[in-house]
Amino acid sequence: MNWSIPLLRVRGIEIKVHTTFALILVWAAYYWGFGTDAGSRGALFGVTAIILLFVCVVLHELGHALTAQRYGIVVHDITLLPIGGVARIEVPENPREELWIALAGPAVNVVIAVVLIAVGALLSATSLLMPADLSVTMREAKWSGLLAYLTLANIALVLFNLIPAFPLDGGRVLRALLAIRQDYRRATETAARIGQAVALGFGLLGFLALDFFLIVIAVFVWFGAEAERQQVSNKGTLDNLTVGQAMSRNPAVLVPEDPLERAVELTLSTAQADFPVVSSDGRVVGLLSADDLLRGVRDQPSATVGVAMRRDVLQAAASEQLVDVQQRAAVAGARTLVVIEDDRLAGFLTIADIGEAFRLFAIRPELLAAPLTNEAPQPQQSLGPASG
Ligand code: ZN
Repeated sequence: MNWSIPLLRVRGIEIKVHTTFALILVWAAYYWGFGTDAGSRGALFGVTAIILLFVCVVLHELGHALTAQRYGIVVHDITLLPIGGVARIEVPENPREELWIALAGPAVNVVIAVVLIAVGALLSATSLLMPADLSVTMREAKWSGLLAYLTLANIALVLFNLIPAFPLDGGRVLRALLAIRQDYRRATETAARIGQAVALGFGLLGFLALDFFLIVIAVFVWFGAEAERQQVSNKGTLDNLTVGQAMSRNPAVLVPEDPLERAVELTLSTAQADFPVVSSDGRVVGLLSADDLLRGVRDQPSATVGVAMRRDVLQAAASEQLVDVQQRAAVAGARTLVVIEDDRLAGFLTIADIGEAFRLFAIRPELLAAPLTNEAPQPQQSLGPASG
């Protein structure tokens, strides 16, 4: 089950909220409702404060996402979690782009903080910006403290996110700055090491000061750096994978004149759900997906494959890199690709095949040397038990 609820779309980017986000609202209502003497007014205050804080977090993530879109980089979605927001963005190849995308998030909070300070000055509420006063107004759940709270929260978001450690924006800024001068993988390695040194520092400080929050951050940063390093070193391997290594070489195919029953038979007798449609001269003219087949059988059961198939088929070459093709399929929303060599069908590739190849090579990278096919392996010549 998917635990995220879609809220709205901004320029095609879906903004979702994770179900566990409700926990932090319940906590806020409890903390300001019972923790103060304000009762239900306090609960309302707490929930409002948290929702406004997360509006700032969404704007921060949109800062990353819209900058990425400007560079033509795919943005999948933005999800709000109790610990903050996550924008799923494809990693840009160009370090300068990564630099600006990483900086755009905190820059949004700088702008918000400046606007809030200006509003505070206009309302002559600037004295409320002092944290000491703030803690009092917050404890009493006074609405007058909300402006100061949001201003300080935005400043804190900027400072926290610029800590030079993955998975924080500062870690990405650091990696991008390093990658302008050196190879991407080495830059990640160095940035991850610096991040882990920062994490150790936080952990040590946390233990000395008995600050639980610092220790949690230290653990979070340590594993974030490790994950980034792993991902990049896998990507280095995966980048070398080609379509030819993951495709099925002998897929079941249909001809346009086939009746739909033939497709039903093939669906039942093979592991395939989608079928390339090949004309008598050997050229690929379409694709019959499981959806097309179902629709055809329902609406016009006596039709031929040529009528029910789709003609716009995503194509790839066997020599293309799998990561590129995967991205192309994701953008097009396609589940299947036909592999064409010399105008003829050379193979068939599904999103599932790509995932399978990545999983396999993540575990057994040495298999990279051997071309991967979906055909049954040839029986190995048996050497027989050594005698003597
Ligand atoms: Zn960010």
